[in-house]
Amino acid sequence: MATLPIRGSCLCGAVRFELTAPPLFMACCHCSRCRKAGGGMAATVAVRSEDFRWVAGREHVVRYQPEPPWKLIRSFCGLCGTSLGEPDTNVEGGGFPIAASALDDDPGLRVVLHECVADKPAWLDLCDDAHQLPGPTHDPGEPSSE
Ligand SMILES: [Zn+2]
Ligand SMILES: [Zn+2]
Repeated sequence: MATLPIRGSCLCGAVRFELTAPPLFMACCHCSRCRKAGGGMAATVAVRSEDFRWVAGREHVVRYQPEPPWKLIRSFCGLCGTSLGEPDTNVEGGGFPIAASALDDDPGLRVVLHECVADKPAWLDLCDDAHQLPGPTHDPGEPSSE
């Protein structure tokens, strides 16, 4: 069980946030877009909007809105480039993805899903028992095409 609040921050420390309740679940995406944005793979926790709170540096958060058909917005610290996920965005279902890599505390849950496993680089081995999907759940189209 996680100790609350669960704190998160960027590399330079300008951006800080808190989760006031445990996330809903944790998943990893291995598509080429998440790999580039996340620096290897994108481990994210799904957070309810009412459980997310900015502590500092919201003005430094930059949002990358891709051209269609891609739709997943990527947020990062404009000073140090740390991936933050998609905070502050209303996603259908009432939650949004936060980069697990930006968390300072253990969120108390573990990866339950690997998606886009067919697009996973050869140098990465998956060593857990989490469910694996060959394709994406977030963006349409072929995950490997740029
Ligand atoms: Zn930063
Ligand atoms: Zn992805």
